[in-house]
Amino acid sequence: MAGITVTNDFEGANPHDPTRLERTDEAAFAIRPWSEDGDGNYKFSLLVGVANRSGGPVEADFAIDWADEEYMTCRDYVLLGRRDQWRYFPADVHGPVARAKVVVPPGRWQLALHPTYGLERLKQWQRQAEMSGPIKVRSLGPTGSGRQILAFDIGEPSAAAARTLAVLGRIHPYETAGSFAAEGALRWLLRSAMGDRLRGWRASVVLIANVDGVATGTCKLTAPGGPDMSHNARTTDDAGVAALLGWVEELRPAVMCDFHGWMYHYQDGFDYTDAGPDDALRLQLCRSADLDRAWKGHRLTDPTNSDSLWAIAKERHGTESLIFSFGWYGRTVRHVRRIGAGVVSTVLRCR
Ligand SMILES: [Zn+2]
Repeated sequence: MAGITVTNDFEGANPHDPTRLERTDEAAFAIRPWSEDGDGNYKFSLLVGVANRSGGPVEADFAIDWADEEYMTCRDYVLLGRRDQWRYFPADVHGPVARAKVVVPPGRWQLALHPTYGLERLKQWQRQAEMSGPIKVRSLGPTGSGRQILAFDIGEPSAAAARTLAVLGRIHPYETAGSFAAEGALRWLLRSAMGDRLRGWRASVVLIANVDGVATGTCKLTAPGGPDMSHNARTTDDAGVAALLGWVEELRPAVMCDFHGWMYHYQDGFDYTDAGPDDALRLQLCRSADLDRAWKGHRLTDPTNSDSLWAIAKERHGTESLIFSFGWYGRTVRHVRRIGAGVVSTVLRCR
C-alpha cells in the first residue's frame, strides 16, 4: 500500500457523497465534485482530506471530473495544503476532467481548488472576541438550518453615519477569497483600533455570510433549492438573508465592501455604485502592488430593478457599495488578506 487515503466525511467536504470519491489504483483517485444546481459558472468547490501515513512523500494521481467543459481553463490546477500554506500542482485538462500528479508529504492535508476557510476559523475569531479586546462578536440570527451568522464589531458605536463601514465576506461558499479578504480587513481594523487610529469610525465585519453553504460544501446557494444570498435579497423568506438585511438595517453603512472570490486567473472584479468616489478609489487601489490584475466590472446604476443586497442598502440608506471578486490563481493566503486590508485602509483614507 502506498499509504495514501482520501476522505470526504467531514463538514464542508465536496463531494460529500462517498460514491463520488473512488480509489482507482494504489495511489490514484477519481473525484467528481458536486454542485447543488449544476451551474458551471459557480462549480469550483473541491475539498477532500488527503492523508499520507508512510514515512516519505508519495506521488498521488487525482482525476477530477468537474462535469463541465465551459470553465475548464479555470480548473487547470489543484492545491494541496492546510490552514494558510498551499502548494499549486498543474493539471492536464481533457474535456471536463483535470488530471494532476500531486506530491503528498507525510501527514494530513486537504486537496482543494482554492485555499479553504471553514467554520472552525469563524469559531476561533468568536473565541478571541469573547475573551476581551476591541472586537465584539454578535449573532445576526440563525439561518434556516440553525447556524448563527456572526458579525465582528469594532470602533466607536456612536460614530457618525458617514463613517460606518460594513464588510461582507463569503456570500458564495466556494469563494474563499471573500473570507480571507474580510479577515485581512478585520485584522487591519483591529491593529488600527489597538493603535488608536480608528477614532470616529464604526465597522462591522461578516467573515462568512453563507454559513450553511460553507458547512455543506455548496458552490453558490445556501442549500439545494435555497436562495443565492447575493442576488435573491427581496425575493426570498430565507432566515439567513433576513439576518443580513437586519444587519444592514441596523448598521445603515455609508460604505459596504462586499468581498467575493472568483475563478478567473488574470482578472479581479469590481462593481460599484457611486461613480465619482469609486473611480477615485479604484485609481488609488491600482497603485497597490497587490492589485496588479486587470479589472473587470461596471457601475451598478439601477437599484429599483435589482434583487441584490447592494440595491436595498442603496435605496434605504444611500450606501455606497464596493463589490470585489478576487481570483486566487498564483496568490497566497497572506496575499489575499493583504488585499482585504488594503481595500479597507484605502476606503477609510479616501473619506
Ligand atoms: Zn460571489
